[in-house]
Amino acid sequence: MKKNEIPYKIYLDEQEMPKQWYNVRADMQKKPAPLLNPGTLEPMTAEELAPVFCEELVQQELDNTTPYIDIPQEIQDYYKMYRPSPLVRAYCLEEKLQTPAKIYYKFEGNNTSGSHKLNSAIAQAYYAKKQGLVGVTTETGAGQWGTALSMACAYLGLDCDVYMVKVSYEQKPFRREVMRTYGAKVTPSPSMTTEVGKKILAEHPNTTGSLGCAISEAVEAAVTREGYRYVLGSVLNQVLLHQSVIGLEAKAALDKYGVVPDMIIGCAGGGSNLGGLISPFMGEMLRGERNYRFIAVEPASCPSLTRGKYVYDFCDTGMVTPLAKMYTLGSGFIPSANHAGGLRYHGMSPVISELFHQGLMEARSVEQTAVFEAAELFAKVEGILPAPESAHAIRVAMDEALHCKETGEEKTILFGLTGTGYFDMLAYEKFNDGVMSDYIPTDEDLEEGFAGLPNIPQNK
Ligand SMILES: *Cc1c(COP(=O)(O)O)cnc(C)c1O
Repeated sequence: MKKNEIPYKIYLDEQEMPKQWYNVRADMQKKPAPLLNPGTLEPMTAEELAPVFCEELVQQELDNTTPYIDIPQEIQDYYKMYRPSPLVRAYCLEEKLQTPAKIYYKFEGNNTSGSHKLNSAIAQAYYAKKQGLVGVTTETGAGQWGTALSMACAYLGLDCDVYMVKVSYEQKPFRREVMRTYGAKVTPSPSMTTEVGKKILAEHPNTTGSLGCAISEAVEAAVTREGYRYVLGSVLNQVLLHQSVIGLEAKAALDKYGVVPDMIIGCAGGGSNLGGLISPFMGEMLRGERNYRFIAVEPASCPSLTRGKYVYDFCDTGMVTPLAKMYTLGSGFIPSANHAGGLRYHGMSPVISELFHQGLMEARSVEQTAVFEAAELFAKVEGILPAPESAHAIRVAMDEALHCKETGEEKTILFGLTGTGYFDMLAYEKFNDGVMSDYIPTDEDLEEGFAGLPNIPQNK
């Protein structure tokens, strides 16, 4: 097609929005490994998961066979407030790079949480409400998930207790205030409000916290109180399921114009936006209908897919969660202090991990100054100030587009622009002042994290 035959933005009408989520596990021949009970090392049953998660979410977590799951009408209605999200043809970026590649991005930053996280937050809060619960507890790192969950809970009238990684709590006071405006209770983690928090503080009094610590505290706060359950914003199968709305919309929009991407690129923290974006395309590949390249992008300072081990590990630092088989750096791993770009979780979604292990997708790690260079250029030419997390995907999309320039190939690139970076100005400030540095962990650094892996038979 000639330029401008495809609009800058492809929108879907309301009636074209997905009415079902797509569960990629149904089309995987070899399924992701089940969560294990750390005591018995047997797969977690629905009964064992019920004290932690809402009933319907437990069903979704364990369902490896149903390909399409209805999106309840109430959730569809909430989605309509901020979806469909635009699919943008990056004509300006293509022009700037002088590339023959065609670049599209799916922009998930058009809501107050500033990211895709709201897609799962509203679903999880809905099922909690439906079950008659009082409230939910969770952790948040950079703050997008906590914000999204606060918004969803405010809408549905649920209590929302957020354990926020201490360093973010202090560095991102405005994120915290957004959450409080929506009625959430925000506690810096580790805290003295939980037993596991006290224990972590006794061992590491000066710790600035980590996602793994905050998860331990949030789980404890849920299971020790009547009427509360824990919810998680990434990694879990159920979260990837909800996020499939991203990929389904993107595919429907591309289909309207007969566009088929050659490669699909997403940043990977716990793997939820990437999993959601690629799901329907991966489904086609798993069913033998079409081939794509899928690229997961992670920070060089937290390289779970590119340098981690594919083993069973705890999802948290306090070792209170079930064991998940995933690419992991060890639940005690904390990225170096100069790391500013998000995506700092030690593990990776079991679905993404298994797909990667089977060779169905690629992974690449990038250094943060290169990420912020891409972010700056993107902001200038496409107008949107990206979240540092999203800029990892921009970096690799640009690298692939520049590669096309060398080879003259007219590849079609789709990437996930997961959110906006308005609350990440400390990181941008470092970059603008020229004091941002790169740190790639040494093998010895990584060994420290691996040393903390649970000692269990790994052939489970
Ligand atoms: C949370 C977040 C991510 C990373 O989480 P995934 O579960 O890997 O998708 C990426 N981008 C933004 C803007 C986020 O808020």
